[in-house]
Amino acid sequence: MNALEVSDLSFAYGAREALRKVSFSLEPGRFAALLGPNGAGKSTLIALLTRLYDLQHGEIRVGGCSLRSAARPALRQLGVVFQQSTLDLDLSVEQNLRYHAALHGLSRRQSDLRVDAELARQTLTERRRERVRELNGGHRRRVEIARALLHEPRLLLLDEASVGLDPASRLALNQHIRNLCREERMSVLWTTHLLDEVQPSDDLLILHQGRLVASGQADALSQRHGGDLRSAFTRLTSTGALQ
Ligand code: ADP
Ligand code: MG
Repeated sequence: MNALEVSDLSFAYGAREALRKVSFSLEPGRFAALLGPNGAGKSTLIALLTRLYDLQHGEIRVGGCSLRSAARPALRQLGVVFQQSTLDLDLSVEQNLRYHAALHGLSRRQSDLRVDAELARQTLTERRRERVRELNGGHRRRVEIARALLHEPRLLLLDEASVGLDPASRLALNQHIRNLCREERMSVLWTTHLLDEVQPSDDLLILHQGRLVASGQADALSQRHGGDLRSAFTRLTSTGALQ
């Protein structure tokens, strides 16, 4: 069963069309890069996947569960790191996590175990009592990732998670998520506008002006559309797609 299936998804903000007939699927344990310039519709797609907006047209299934007719079991399988941080800066690292664990209905004991495990995995154990405000951007992102993983989702969504980080932290974060994906056989949808965050073996989805203009394994896709990823991306995103 696919970790994610998006079928014929269209969405408009009033008269402004943001996604048009987007379809793709993601297998368990795969790292998928959703690449698109600013305004392509990446965050709109994440908002629909997380049910921040109601679906207008099309269907989304997470682990086989329809977001329309089985929203709870679908959402339970999702972890998300939004483009804008949603941490409470005045709470400690640990308090931010505990609050989220409670929202997911974890018991006190489960919450203790899961918070300890995810803090250790993000090497944040020693920072657990610090207020998030004291942490740098890379560490704040790690807190968000720990929080997104507390309820053990099968699919992790990250919307431009590396924006605002220095180049070294950016690539470290990207690598870190790839390791998680491999170790946990978790599927990842990594949204970015940066080509150097894509690796040849990734599933690559290229979104341009609301349309999925290409999809497939990154190396094969690059060869098909120009030779290397940069030429392929330039070629695929240089023209108006929404007509
Ligand atoms: P990306 O995340 O790829 O930069 P977005 O999904 O944020 O793209 O935006 C896609 C399109 O939808 C853009 O044209 C953007 O201006 C428009 N858009 C996004 N959010 C809103 C909104 N709340 N109201 C109206 N238009 C929006
Ligand atoms: Mg965005």
